[in-house]
Amino acid sequence: MTQNANALSGSCLCGAVEVVVARPAPTLWACHCDMCRRWSGGLALGMETDALGVTISGPVTTYASSDIAERGFCSTCGTALWVRDIKTADTVIDLMPGLFENACGAVLDHEAYADRCPDGYALAGTHARVSKAEYERSQPHV
Ligand SMILES: [Zn+2]
Ligand SMILES: [Zn+2]
Repeated sequence: MTQNANALSGSCLCGAVEVVVARPAPTLWACHCDMCRRWSGGLALGMETDALGVTISGPVTTYASSDIAERGFCSTCGTALWVRDIKTADTVIDLMPGLFENACGAVLDHEAYADRCPDGYALAGTHARVSKAEYERSQPHV
């Protein structure tokens, strides 16, 4: 197997899971919804990535957090690895940027459930801020 020159490798906290991405996503999202908040321990960050260019190896457990989404984490250390839509036929996987050095250089594009961000902190910058109502209107399957 030949490795793409741009491929980046990331890993979980304990190092048991390795994630290699052929085409790193240029942007990332943040989400403050109840599920992301509980799952990540704060806010979730993700990079919308083509799953066909992603190789994940190591001990992984998946959890169906809703009828439409699956979340993957390291079976050993619990590190959040990905969120994936399981209802659509697309090949998108949202990888957690924290697995990779410098989050693959990805830039924050939008913040979902921005109005649900806890009072004590906020994300700085000029990215798009999408409210719960706006997000759920644009994603009818949520
Ligand atoms: Zn681990
Ligand atoms: Zn969320």
